[in-house]
Amino acid sequence: MHPFILERPRDLEAALALRAQAGRNDAPVEYIAGGTDMVQLLQEYARRPERLVSLAGLLDNRIEVGPQGLRLGGGATMAEVAAHPGVIEQFPVISEALLESASPQVRNQATMGGNLLQRTRCPYFRDVGYEACNKRAPGSGCAAIGGENRWHAVLGTSDNCIAAHPSDLAVALVALDAEVEIRGVGGQRTVPLADLHRLPGDTPHFETILEPGEVITAITVPANPAARRSHYLKVRDRASFEFAVVSAAGAIEMDGSRIRQARVALGGVGTKPWRVPQVEAALAGASLDSTALQQAAALAAEGAQGRGHNDFKIELMQRAIVRAVETAARA
Ligand SMILES: Cc1cc2nc3c(=O)[nH]c(=O)nc-3n(C[C@H](O)[C@H](O)[C@H](O)COP(=O)(O)OP(=O)(O)OC[C@H]3O[C@@H](n4cnc5c(N)ncnc54)[C@H](O)[C@@H]3O)c2cc1C
Ligand code: SF4
Repeated sequence: MHPFILERPRDLEAALALRAQAGRNDAPVEYIAGGTDMVQLLQEYARRPERLVSLAGLLDNRIEVGPQGLRLGGGATMAEVAAHPGVIEQFPVISEALLESASPQVRNQATMGGNLLQRTRCPYFRDVGYEACNKRAPGSGCAAIGGENRWHAVLGTSDNCIAAHPSDLAVALVALDAEVEIRGVGGQRTVPLADLHRLPGDTPHFETILEPGEVITAITVPANPAARRSHYLKVRDRASFEFAVVSAAGAIEMDGSRIRQARVALGGVGTKPWRVPQVEAALAGASLDSTALQQAAALAAEGAQGRGHNDFKIELMQRAIVRAVETAARA
């Protein structure tokens, strides 16, 4: 494991100050929250910070459900959020996405902020034996393009990186128009979750819009009648402890036998959590007839580009959308 110094600041202000001086990305000073991703990366030498600033005990971990919607403290664990009665009842897609993630041990330890900021599972990023990885070593190339790319993205890719975003939670949240509260030395701001992660473009090593030292302090989800009728469908290689090959989050408000509004997002296929507004627009006013659902789902393939081994995802994601929408609508 890469050696490091662990800083235990007494409050969040001190943590922000320690981290802010260290620069934007893969910096010599980094935060650690639950540590479930960071420690793996240190073990693999994929990240080599000199210091880790612990956020343990410094972040709000409350879970609040009210008329305005849902608020999740950045330090709440995956297990706590998944088991919260208000989340299960009013935002089932969030609870389901979390329960389909990782293992009970990981979920007991991992936090909301850390989940959104976990790094890609691209094996070339995590295995430093491969030299070509623009995300880990900018300018070195991309071993996945032309390599083994069954796990990689088909949407939002560039010629510099095709890594899929790994978080299941983020897919459910982006479907529900979640926002992220951020705090840095310069103050506080709120951004839509859809804008938190960046497309790889020419700079895949810059993964988010966070400024150096900024911390995710909370996630908010506005109240929406569609959220109650929601479902997370995850297709994976084995039934537990596995990341998504393809996933779909669907949230549906019905008007009699027709869909009044739909919220749909995809995981395992995008370089960031991938909302599909064109599918949502086609679903509005549609019946649950399978032809109508398939026609709407087909629009998700706009702009999709397979790289060989992952071509199958383009059809699979359409099927996942149909199944997620049907299941949500009948909930
Ligand atoms: C075996 C295994 C299986 C897994 N399977 C899945 C899965 O199926 N689906 C899935 O979605 N995930 C899965 N995961 C990933 C897991 O969800 C993440 O490791 C976890 O959510 C990260 O949270 P953490 O608090 O431990 O973050 P850490 O590991 O502590 O940190 C992760 C990153 O976030 C940064 N960070 C942490 N908190 C904050 C904050 N509040 N503000 C700013 N930066 C912060 C850290 O600096 C670091 O870069 C799996 C993990 C393991 C180990
Ligand atoms: S897909 Fe991205 S993370 Fe994977 S090897 Fe290519 S540049 Fe690195």
